[in-house]
Amino acid sequence: MEISTVDVRYLKEKYGTPLYIYDVAHLKRNMEGYLKYFKSNEFETEVLFASKAFSVKEVLRIAKEEGMSLDVVSMGELYTALKVDFPKDRIYFHGNNKTIEELEYAISIGIGIIVVDNLMELYAIDEITKKLSKSIRILIRMNVGVEAHTHKFIVTSHVDSKFGVLYNSEDYKEMLEVIKKNPLIKFKGFHSHIGSQIFDLNAFKAALEKLLNITKEFDFPLVLNIGGGFAVHYTDEDKPIPFDIVSKTLIEVAEEALKKTNIKIEKLCIEPGRSIVAEAGYTLYTIGFMKKTPNKEYYFIDGGMTDNIRPALYQAKYDCDIVGKENEEKTEVVTIAGKCCESGDLIIEGARLPKAAIGDLLITYTTGAYGYSMSSNYNKALTPAVVFVEDGKDYLAVRRQTLDELIEREV
Ligand SMILES: *Cc1c(COP(=O)(O)O)cnc(C)c1O
Repeated sequence: MEISTVDVRYLKEKYGTPLYIYDVAHLKRNMEGYLKYFKSNEFETEVLFASKAFSVKEVLRIAKEEGMSLDVVSMGELYTALKVDFPKDRIYFHGNNKTIEELEYAISIGIGIIVVDNLMELYAIDEITKKLSKSIRILIRMNVGVEAHTHKFIVTSHVDSKFGVLYNSEDYKEMLEVIKKNPLIKFKGFHSHIGSQIFDLNAFKAALEKLLNITKEFDFPLVLNIGGGFAVHYTDEDKPIPFDIVSKTLIEVAEEALKKTNIKIEKLCIEPGRSIVAEAGYTLYTIGFMKKTPNKEYYFIDGGMTDNIRPALYQAKYDCDIVGKENEEKTEVVTIAGKCCESGDLIIEGARLPKAAIGDLLITYTTGAYGYSMSSNYNKALTPAVVFVEDGKDYLAVRRQTLDELIEREV
C-alpha cells in the first residue's frame, strides 16, 4: 500500500509504529477547496482552520502558506501558531473560559479577533483594554438554539449550552452596553458554532439565518462567523456533503438575505477543523498477538486509545485494512483492541479483515482529526511520530516521544 507513492512498509521501517501519516496533497486540496468555493462578490470571506483538530507547526505552516486564517482556543494553540509566524491578524481566539493571562497576552500582541463567549469575559476585556490602552476587535458568540448531533439537527430553545449568549437575554443587552461605552472594544459581529460531524446542510443554513436576522438591528456591516462542524467520511455509512456544496450554499443563503432585506455584511467566515485534516490522515499499527474468546476474535495492535480516543469517547467508527492484504478475502470479523489496561480500549469492533499474522501492519483511515491532538500518555505510552508525505517524499512533522521525555518533568 502506498500513500502519495510512498510505501507504508518503508515508513514503518523508518519511523516505527504506531505512526500518524498525513498526505500533504490531500491537506492542500481540502484547504484550497474551501478557499476556492467560499467566495462572494457581495462581501469578503475568510476560511479559518480550527487548529484544535490537529495543531502542530507543520500543518499550521501549510495553512499559512495556503492563505487560511486560524482559530485557536488556548495559549498553547496560540503559541504554536506564533512559532510559525502565523500572521496575528488572521488569528481568532475562542473559548468559554479564557484566563486573564491569555486575554492580556492576546490583546497585547494585537491578535486578530477575540470571540467573546460571555458577559464576564467582556468585562475582563473591558478592563484589560483600558489598562493596556490597547484596542481589540471582537465577535460575540451566540447560542443560536440550533443543536446538531451528527445526522439529526433540531432547532430548540436549548438555552443551557456551555457556549455563547442568547439573543436578547439580559447578558446580551448588557454586553452591547459595555461595548458602547468602551471605544477600545471594536465590536465586529457574531459567531456561532453548532456542533461537529454534521451531515445536514439545513442545520448550517438555520444557524446562519439566525445570525443574519440579528444583523438587521445594526446599521453597519457585520462580520458573521458560522463556525465549523462539517462532516467527513469515516465509514461507508457516512455521506458527508462535499465542501464545494457546503461553501456555495452558505454563500447563497447570505447573498439571498442581502437581496431581500437591507442587511449589510462585511465578511462571512467559516472555520472547518475536522474536514480539513481528517481524511488526509492515517494511523499505522503493527499487529501483535491475536486471541479468540467464545464470541469474539481479537487482533491486538501496538497503539490504541492513547493515539485515538474517539472510539472510546464517542463510539466513533473507523475503517481499516491489513497492509498488503487489501485484496484478500475478508474471512474474519474481528475486534481491533489496543494495548491499554482498559476494556474500552477498542479501536474498531466488527472489522471485516483477512486472516492476519503477527507482525502484519494495520492501517486505519480518516484519523487525521482529533487523533494526535487528543493523544495521551496513559499507561506511559509514547506519543507516536507524525510523518508527512508529499510527491513521493516523507518527512517528520513530529518525532516519536522518547522514554526520557516521558519523565523529564518529573522531580
Ligand atoms: C471545534 C470547533 C470548530 C471546528 O469543528 P470541526 O468539527 O472540527 O470542523 C470550529 N469552531 C469552533 C468554535 C469550535 O469549537
